[in-house]
Amino acid sequence: MVIAIDGPAGAGKSTVARLLAQRLGCPYIETGAMYRAVGLFALRRGVPLSDAPALEELAGDIHYRFLSTAQGNRLLADGEDITDVIRGEEVSQAASIVSALPGVRRALVRRQRELGRSGNVVMEGRDIGTKVFPDAEVKVYLDASAEVRGRRRLAQSDAGTPGDPARLKQLMAEIKERDRRDSQRADSPLLQAPDAIYLDSSSLTIDQVVDAILQHVRQRSAAEPRA
Ligand code: C5P
Repeated sequence: MVIAIDGPAGAGKSTVARLLAQRLGCPYIETGAMYRAVGLFALRRGVPLSDAPALEELAGDIHYRFLSTAQGNRLLADGEDITDVIRGEEVSQAASIVSALPGVRRALVRRQRELGRSGNVVMEGRDIGTKVFPDAEVKVYLDASAEVRGRRRLAQSDAGTPGDPARLKQLMAEIKERDRRDSQRADSPLLQAPDAIYLDSSSLTIDQVVDAILQHVRQRSAAEPRA
């Protein structure tokens, strides 16, 4: 069974995917980390974010490996653990820019399909239910208000002093900019698959979100015992 979780930045997809995978005893894949890897390597190597052919080649050349640990996934890109260095704002924006390029998407979607083929998996991103696995048995669109997402980012960010209104405003602007780019791109824009369940996590706890999805997974398993 493939469980596809899509939604905008900061809606809680990674945490939900990790907990869900833990409860189901299966792996989870954060596809955003792969776009971030391409963004990171492009920045480091001085590849212009407008050089589509070079970025497509880069996306196809990187070797991506997710390592499952007790604390969650680590992403090894060409053998280097880049999990922590890909979270900064510069890499986030670079990932969002390179992810609009069809060649980059082609290369990564191919890898994601390979990673999801081996059995049960929870995969999260922007286009999992619409493009990567359009036949996924369970699809979730996880949303939250821009303010809630900004507050979550603020709480996560080392630089942010909790409650700092200027920093919150800046984070919300960055989130909205990524939302705009992710939703308006021509290739695989962020959108809810027609058969996805919609969950707004603004006023739900993580456990409530995970429980709601698990209930859906059980219903699907009962309906298709051999899936
Ligand atoms: O999910 P995360 O914030 O790590 O994703 C980083 C960026 O990668 C997103 O802003 C989006 O532009 C891109 N992305 C994508 N398709 C996916 C996953 C992420 O375009 N399936």
